[in-house]
Amino acid sequence: MDYDFDIVIIGAATSGSYFAHLMAKKGYKVKVIEKLGRSKVGTRFDIVHMLKDDFGKFGLPMPKEGDKDYAFVFTGVQTLSPYNNYPKKTNETVVGMHLHEYTVRLNDMAIESGAEIEYNAEFTDFIYNDSGKICGVAYTTAEGAKSVTCRLAVDCSGVSAVGRTKLPAGYGVDNSPITDKDVFFVVLRYVLYSNPNDYLKGSKGWPSYKSWEAPQADPRGAILGIGASLSFEQAEAGFEDFQKSVPLPEYTLTRIEKGVTPYIQSLYSFVGDGFIASGDAACLTKPNNGEGITSAMVQMVIAAEVADKALKANDVSAKNLWDINVRYNRGQGADFALVRTTLIKTVKGASKEDFEYFFKKDIIFSEKMIGGLKIGLADMVLMGVRLIAGAVTGKISSKAIISLVSGLVLGVRLLNLYKKFPQNPDGFASWKTKADKLWNKVGKMSD
Ligand SMILES: Cc1cc2nc3c(=O)[nH]c(=O)nc-3n(C[C@H](O)[C@H](O)[C@H](O)COP(=O)(O)OP(=O)(O)OC[C@H]3O[C@@H](n4cnc5c(N)ncnc54)[C@H](O)[C@@H]3O)c2cc1C
Repeated sequence: MDYDFDIVIIGAATSGSYFAHLMAKKGYKVKVIEKLGRSKVGTRFDIVHMLKDDFGKFGLPMPKEGDKDYAFVFTGVQTLSPYNNYPKKTNETVVGMHLHEYTVRLNDMAIESGAEIEYNAEFTDFIYNDSGKICGVAYTTAEGAKSVTCRLAVDCSGVSAVGRTKLPAGYGVDNSPITDKDVFFVVLRYVLYSNPNDYLKGSKGWPSYKSWEAPQADPRGAILGIGASLSFEQAEAGFEDFQKSVPLPEYTLTRIEKGVTPYIQSLYSFVGDGFIASGDAACLTKPNNGEGITSAMVQMVIAAEVADKALKANDVSAKNLWDINVRYNRGQGADFALVRTTLIKTVKGASKEDFEYFFKKDIIFSEKMIGGLKIGLADMVLMGVRLIAGAVTGKISSKAIISLVSGLVLGVRLLNLYKKFPQNPDGFASWKTKADKLWNKVGKMSD
């Protein structure tokens, strides 16, 4: 069969543009369909942050002062206890960008690499061949229904996951939708501080409230962000609680933005015959802060290498794309499973006072752990001793200790399981049963 395209990607935001760029650069014929117009892509909210180091790591263009997408750069992040004590400092440099303008820049990067983007083109369904394998994509535009054939279809449609949720059961990829229980509801308050002494030089986070204060494009201002499970109302209630315990500088509110970001383990399998899921559609966000732009790129770099080999071999079956699952799950997937489990259990089991003690004694919330450095046996033993001391002196509740210890135990078990992700699809069913069992014990942040 002659195909119209090698690859069709659903969604032209950060994930779809990046994967299109990677594959077009390798010489493949790539088309992206995007339901929004070019003037509307990436307008869900204004400011996004990326680590400066990630631009080089993923070969991304970095906005410079004066560019339309540039907002600010800062160095230094502090993580604080519920009562604003014991700051843990890390020294990353973070670049703030206007999401719409940066998405357009990534669209143009994909186009320059040879990809084609059709805007105002809304995916409706896949087209299957006589053997029931994906061989094309159907979509609608202002002119009516259209379709194109392709060897590989990629879902980068964000939280709506319109592609993978259309797949028939048993196609190799979980086709269940991302529900309100699987996301964080994020509210961003753009504020202007009254006193120049309060203008920001870095950013701060308070994990016990899932809240943060970060710079915005206006140097007099800040973004006060908060995330919560289940609803925006819960996020607003959390913000009230946060404001009562943490003294914020005097401010004037200029606008509010809202959005959701997946907060659940990523898909176990990203691949079906002629199909890959990525980005928010595959729940590839970071467990420590819900950011998802570059964490998804980790999977896409792997996916591009594996898909390249599969396309060259003219075999894009799930079996031949399986290495995407293996390499991702054994790497970032395993690390994220450990962090997500520990955080869910800690946050759900600890009161503000427990958190305060954790910060004071460097339990979980130490500069080493927050900075993503590997912790060794000595750190674990010290943490254990401090936990016991906290329990004996009544500084932490037994609920918090049980929850934290079970989080660490389950986290390590999940880490080890992910590191043994099956080499081929044959071992997947029994691996999935074990993983489901462990994740059920962890529960969701929203439970
Ligand atoms: C308030 C907030 C702040 C955040 N801040 C950060 C941050 O600072 N740094 C960071 O890394 N991450 C951040 N995140 C997370 C980050 O925004 C996402 O992880 C990332 O944008 C996901 O990109 P994506 O391309 O996978 O999905 P999306 O950005 O959701 O893009 C999906 C695209 O698919 C298109 N689409 C949907 N349905 C169809 C269809 N039927 N047909 C065709 N096209 C379709 C959409 O129009 C859209 O363009 C934040 C999230 C929120 C909610």
